[in-house]
Amino acid sequence: MHDVIVIGAGIAGLAAAHALRAAGYAVLVLEARNRIGGRIWTDERHGPVEFGAEFIHGHRAATWELVWRAGLPTSRWGRDRRFAVGGQMLADDDPVGKAVHALYLQICRYQGPEATVAELLDRWAPSPEVRMLAGRWLANIEGADLNRLSAAALARERRLSTIGEDNFHIDCGYRHLLAPLSSGSAIELEAAVKLVRWDERQVEVVLADGRQFHARYLIVTVPVSLLQAGQPAFDPPLPIAKQAAIAAIPMGHVTKLALWFDHQFWPEFTVLSTDGVIATWWPVTSAHVPTLMGYMGGQQALAVANLGETEAIAVALRELSALFSVDAATCYRGGRLVDWARDPWSCGAYTYSAAGTPAARVALAEPVGPLHFAGEATVTGAEIATVHGAFESGRRAAREIILLRNRQIQTYL
Ligand SMILES: Cc1cc2nc3c(=O)[nH]c(=O)nc-3n(C[C@H](O)[C@H](O)[C@H](O)COP(=O)(O)OP(=O)(O)OC[C@H]3O[C@@H](n4cnc5c(N)ncnc54)[C@H](O)[C@@H]3O)c2cc1C
Repeated sequence: MHDVIVIGAGIAGLAAAHALRAAGYAVLVLEARNRIGGRIWTDERHGPVEFGAEFIHGHRAATWELVWRAGLPTSRWGRDRRFAVGGQMLADDDPVGKAVHALYLQICRYQGPEATVAELLDRWAPSPEVRMLAGRWLANIEGADLNRLSAAALARERRLSTIGEDNFHIDCGYRHLLAPLSSGSAIELEAAVKLVRWDERQVEVVLADGRQFHARYLIVTVPVSLLQAGQPAFDPPLPIAKQAAIAAIPMGHVTKLALWFDHQFWPEFTVLSTDGVIATWWPVTSAHVPTLMGYMGGQQALAVANLGETEAIAVALRELSALFSVDAATCYRGGRLVDWARDPWSCGAYTYSAAGTPAARVALAEPVGPLHFAGEATVTGAEIATVHGAFESGRRAAREIILLRNRQIQTYL
């Protein structure tokens, strides 16, 4: 019998377990994968390359505490964004690029009645190519289907955010952020939870391999897409309000395509948005060989994932060859496509706010008896869908449990 079981060893689960352990609780973390980190996943075959989370957003994100504790080197990402249309890079002062920037900012500052981002793009875009590039930029950041993404929620999150606008890389790899949280924790890997039996007093957790664990409290941090698919199952089922909240939060999609080369054939740039199949490119400066990362969000992520790795790499090499007037295939060393939609333990990349569902995250975060909920989908402030938001949600769930004990002690006294 443990005090608390945590399902999931992503940043939210590790943060919750760490806080509870510090408060004297006996905690067990159950993780389905054979590694910790969840959607933080650093590939190190050619130096650190991120297949999951890439940046610390903002210089005031809560996770800086972990960066400093672990003494991790970081570097600031530039803010310049270039654009390419029809296989040609646009000049910095090209009117199309300026119009895309302006439209992007106009949507991020929207203050009107509920509308989807697709509706605003249709209303405001001066041309189809500006609509496409601004739409892709937003879809990439949000991972979202623009026909569902709430412009009001998106703009509210931008207004309320206090973390700052710069992005930072962890030079040695994002996974090192986890060490201050995971060291000393009891973590069971390859421990997929299939069923949660619960009543007001305790929780029984059944794994796919039949093992059972018991605890006074449970913290569930599995991605909302898995809860939508009934994984794990709950007996008795979760209350109707909780089920409605789970159903109302859409999971966005991201596909990443890393390509390694023998030499660098591209000019210096920070990020390049294109109207091609590979929607965005950026050089990965932390890698030990010249590396480009292709990034697709929303519908384009699914389209590229559906090509399969071999075809996606062939298309990417053709597009790079046209963009930089080289034969990119001659110095191609290797590549890897990561399709988060088909990842069985996340079934998507991160959540976004659908139009017309403002209260769903608050309802998802609400405890039910001994069951507590954390993870990026439960973030109720501005920092949804981020590492630092998930980190804080884990600490919030731990606090809920600690406060319950404190209240019980006060009642007893
Ligand atoms: C491609 C991509 C790029 C991103 N880029 C950024 C970025 O640049 N900056 C940023 O801040 N955020 C970024 N994010 C978002 C960020 O990675 C997530 O918000 C955050 O890592 C989520 O943490 P979590 O603990 O809530 O969930 P997860 O990390 O998903 O942790 C949940 C864990 O639960 C486990 N699990 C699931 N089901 C079960 C089960 N039945 N039994 C046991 N274990 C189970 C999973 O394996 C997983 O390890 C990105 C995400 C992706 C996918």
